[in-house]
Amino acid sequence: TSTQPTSGPRPVRANRGSALTARSWATEAPLRMLQNNLDPDVAEDPDNLVVYGGTGRAARDWASFDAICRTLVDMADDETLLVQSGRPVGVLRTHEWAPRVLIANSNLVPQWATWPEFRRLEQLGLTMYGQMTAGSWIYIGSQGIVQGTYETFAAVGAQLAERRPADHPHAGDDSLAGTLTLTAGLGGMGGAQPLAVTLAGGAALVIECDPDRARRRLDTRYLDVIADDLDDGIDQALAAKQARKALSVAVIGNAAELVPELLRRGVAIDIVTDQTSAHDPLAYLPSGVALEDWHDYAAAKPDEFTDRARESMAEHVAAMVGFADAGAEVFDYGNSIRGEAQLAGYQRAFDFPGFVPAYIRPLFCAGKGPFRWAALSGDPADIHATDAAVQELFPDNAGLQRWMALAPEKIAFQGLPARICWLGAGERHLAGLRFNEMVAAGELSAPVVIGRDHLDSGSVASPYRETESMADGSDAIADWPLLNALVNTASGASWVSIHHGGGVGIGRSIHAGQVSVADGTALAAAKLERVLTNDPAMGVLRHVDAGYPEADSAAARVKLTVPMAVQ
Ligand code: NAD
Repeated sequence: TSTQPTSGPRPVRANRGSALTARSWATEAPLRMLQNNLDPDVAEDPDNLVVYGGTGRAARDWASFDAICRTLVDMADDETLLVQSGRPVGVLRTHEWAPRVLIANSNLVPQWATWPEFRRLEQLGLTMYGQMTAGSWIYIGSQGIVQGTYETFAAVGAQLAERRPADHPHAGDDSLAGTLTLTAGLGGMGGAQPLAVTLAGGAALVIECDPDRARRRLDTRYLDVIADDLDDGIDQALAAKQARKALSVAVIGNAAELVPELLRRGVAIDIVTDQTSAHDPLAYLPSGVALEDWHDYAAAKPDEFTDRARESMAEHVAAMVGFADAGAEVFDYGNSIRGEAQLAGYQRAFDFPGFVPAYIRPLFCAGKGPFRWAALSGDPADIHATDAAVQELFPDNAGLQRWMALAPEKIAFQGLPARICWLGAGERHLAGLRFNEMVAAGELSAPVVIGRDHLDSGSVASPYRETESMADGSDAIADWPLLNALVNTASGASWVSIHHGGGVGIGRSIHAGQVSVADGTALAAAKLERVLTNDPAMGVLRHVDAGYPEADSAAARVKLTVPMAVQ
């Protein structure tokens, strides 16, 4: 029918339990995961369909959301729904190995790929910003990023430990105990920082301009304390550092003002990073602008606001460089703040590295990245059972064992219960097959979905982040994520997406995602085995091609065929 009831904001919650509302789990799964992305416990601004990361949306508008849900409920297992930047545009006859949903979000022809042009098209209702897992329906709340953030801070701890002289009283300690980390941003992703630092044993001082965001992290136990003011924050954080106690303290204020102030005061800070939404200048609060004026001002005068945000970011980044000059460990945490500061004319913006070349690339060479799964039943017991299964499967993976010992105790579920752990090539398919067996055997009360962030080893081209400083200079080559999406489509993933601009903003990244359903069937096992073998294999191949010896070893270990390998 041509007339649909007008749809608008309302609280959305994924269906729970083992009863289907769609015709099969192949379509019930994307339906529940789309709904879950907009669950008020999961999304940052569900009324506006914003899931996380500035304006990362799950669907173009409410009418599109309703149409996607209606369509998924009716679809057969040989049909594929096409989603163009959050709007369902057609259902085509395919086959049962094909993805049930194919998604393309925020893609623009390169010369047109700028924020002003993107926003113009967005205002015309022609596109939406999909971020990474917002528009591809596998965001699982801040927990999704906690482990990656934890791994990063743990790697920082290990590097600091390496630099300590042998006669240092804490020579062998690679935790962050006795260190103070300064960062900003307590949004969907950034909110993981205080917990990750304390899990690694350190003290954290986190600046956030929006008190509601800080309170939300306190409520979900990601954050320990909100300080009365800057002085109180400094006192509490330094006392924790002194006592080698893990404690996270938020200070409400503007990072563009407070980070330079902390540098001026010479506060003994060891590690500095940032996770404000710097990738989108309209999502970074410039200094001198009141919180309540932010969004009206940005909407009314986007160009002026952008200039002011960039100038503030330049001040923020200059202070970060100041901390680096003073000997602190400083890194960009994947939000483009260096690129934005450089656009404001600050020359030394790239004087500190991005976190990928600094800490993560060796993991990417082994195809390792943020593997995640969610229990469609909504029952936490299903995740607890899979937690145990993963611990049993990989007894020798020390990092994973350390994480899995902490996660169940420390991570509050948001929306459908889910888990994340970094697994690589040769590992992921084993977990997928085991989960599928558990569904088949009735050890889990409903199917699980298995996916990942687009921030993964072979699925993203992003020269300011995942592909910064590649050994062969191939940072901006974007063939890899496209091949990755094609490979996952060819291998039997349940939904596959190609996005532009996630993480670091429009014009700066191209990336792909996949999610696969483990519904306990033999068909699912066959698909999972291929997808979860081939998807991380793309990461290994990408790094073999770039000349990383660690990737050569990984390729040999998992027996990949590499036609151009030196014989
Ligand atoms: P978000 O929009 O949910 O949160 C950003 C937070 O920054 C908000 O709470 C906002 O109030 C705060 N903020 C903005 N300007 C500020 C200022 N001047 N001073 C203090 N606080 C300020 O975004 P998010 O999902 O938390 O993501 C944060 C950034 O990290 C984004 O740029 C995102 O693209 C990037 N990111 C990085 C990774 C990674 O793995 N490194 C992963 C995902 C996203």
